[in-house]
Amino acid sequence: MPKVTIDRERCKGCELCVAACPKQVLAMSTKINSKGYFYAEVAHIENCIACALCAKSCPDAAIEVER
Ligand code: SF4
Ligand code: SF4
Repeated sequence: MPKVTIDRERCKGCELCVAACPKQVLAMSTKINSKGYFYAEVAHIENCIACALCAKSCPDAAIEVER
């Protein structure tokens, strides 16, 4: 199974990664990081196809995808 790691402290909560994922793997947390942003998190890793569109879409390079 692929591994998707999101650095929550780098996340600014823009939701671009959630929109970019074709498999609805990602979701926004109901909790905030230390900067006060609702961060993205991995909700359904079992659906991930390791396409890395989420990582490419993130303006803050907060996402790492490993096959
Ligand atoms: S690698 Fe692709 S399928 Fe997996 S979370 Fe990122 S955008 Fe979604
Ligand atoms: S694209 Fe990056 S900054 Fe935006 S919500 Fe996703 S992880 Fe956070």
